[in-house]
Amino acid sequence: MSDFSMTIAGKSTDTGASFGVINPATGGVFAQAPECTREQLDAAMQSAAEAFTTWRKDDARRRQALQDCAAAITNQVGELAPILTQEQGKPLAKAMEEIMGAAFWFQFTSTLEIPVEVLQDDATSRIEVRRRPLGVVAAITPWNFPLILASWKIAPALLAGNTMVLKPSPFTPLSTLKLGQILRDVLPPGVLNVVSGGDALGAWMTSHPVPRKISFTGSVATGKKVAAAAAPDLKRLTLELGGNDPAIILPDVDPKAVAQKVFWGAFENCGQICSAIKRVYVPEKLYQPVVDELAALAREVKVGNGMEDGTQIGPLNNKPQFERVKELVADAKKAGARVVAGGEPVGGDGYFFKPTIVADIADGARLVDEEQFGPALPIVRYKDVDEAIEKANATHFGLSGSVWSNDTARATEIAKQLDCGTAWVNQHLAILPQTPFGGAKWSGIGVENGTWGLLGFTEIQTVNVAKS
Ligand code: NAD
Repeated sequence: MSDFSMTIAGKSTDTGASFGVINPATGGVFAQAPECTREQLDAAMQSAAEAFTTWRKDDARRRQALQDCAAAITNQVGELAPILTQEQGKPLAKAMEEIMGAAFWFQFTSTLEIPVEVLQDDATSRIEVRRRPLGVVAAITPWNFPLILASWKIAPALLAGNTMVLKPSPFTPLSTLKLGQILRDVLPPGVLNVVSGGDALGAWMTSHPVPRKISFTGSVATGKKVAAAAAPDLKRLTLELGGNDPAIILPDVDPKAVAQKVFWGAFENCGQICSAIKRVYVPEKLYQPVVDELAALAREVKVGNGMEDGTQIGPLNNKPQFERVKELVADAKKAGARVVAGGEPVGGDGYFFKPTIVADIADGARLVDEEQFGPALPIVRYKDVDEAIEKANATHFGLSGSVWSNDTARATEIAKQLDCGTAWVNQHLAILPQTPFGGAKWSGIGVENGTWGLLGFTEIQTVNVAKS
């Protein structure tokens, strides 16, 4: 395994201390990551602040730089993918998909324009609404998609003229550190700094005096701490937080026809996706067939080490998350729910949990009400669709949701009633670089992606020129 160093002011930065990174497929430490000191964080912030003074000035250069980033990432997919698989757990093919997705995000974002709106231009005055970069962005990412989620921040922040200090999760620091190393040759020093460390480093970043914006993806609990840390300095904030996405199946659906899509909407990345399906609402008459179809898929899917050919679902990423899924499934069993497939760890040293379908469970059970963020899916009965909509919305979460039907017009009307940032019809997890993505209620503040996400890395300046 190669060396991993932080990138500060465009250079490799050594630290005295390091921490072990665990491969979730083995439960053992397989590499070390640097532990950033406060002085090094200050140096990273300082270099980002210095780089900002010139980086903000040349739009064409920034656009080209994003395209160069896309090319550099694409060139290094072979090196990055095994690192990502070993630290995160996902199958190698999925790691490649994530990396190519990140490259695509850079490429796509390089084509976006920041609009200048002219409100008035006559003999009296010219009034323009313009967008300015904010300055240094502190970016903090979680462990489920370290590279694609970093690209959602880096590409738009840099295009808008900001510079960045980026911190990955302590569970998955290596692929992001490697990304920083790869982009050292592409970006001017200080434009993108990558530091690694524990949760305390995140807290130092959010209370640091230099950044003017925090772009955070992670849990609701941490998001609230980040918001509180941003308040004294009135730092701008984008929060992409957790979800408890409902999928509502309407009575006209053929269970066989939708089962694959619903299954992978829930179990992709071992269920560790903020906007994965986390609960399914099924009408009484389709209940058993839907449960049977999903359970059959759960039993046949190949769970294993992401480095092995044919693996479809890897382990959970870390021990606390593995314990949490175990606990939520045990709680459901205790309350009388029926485990139709899975329901227990695979066994061995890694954090493998059998894909689990839980039936005869209702709202009020922790597995339904909380974000499980893992491979255990509750299937809930409903009598009429209004009841399903009400239950879907009876939560603090509001990231996304989906409605499934042969009648797309009716499904669309129902989807629009979901209190969430993205409502899908006959699909789930369709996330695109051109569409805004963000959460209602506790699932977030602001959005990422598309022009809307780009504008989140700017602030408005009204320029009002008197002509007479
Ligand atoms: P987490 O909140 O524990 O950690 C996220 C990041 O925050 C990590 O880098 C962590 O080191 C850092 N951090 C921890 N404490 C901090 C503090 N006090 N101040 C600043 N930073 C701090 O989340 P996680 O367990 O890594 O990720 C899983 C969560 O992320 C789930 O809830 C999931 O739904 C959510 N998520 C949301 C999106 C989205 O786009 N909405 C995408 C992916 C994941």
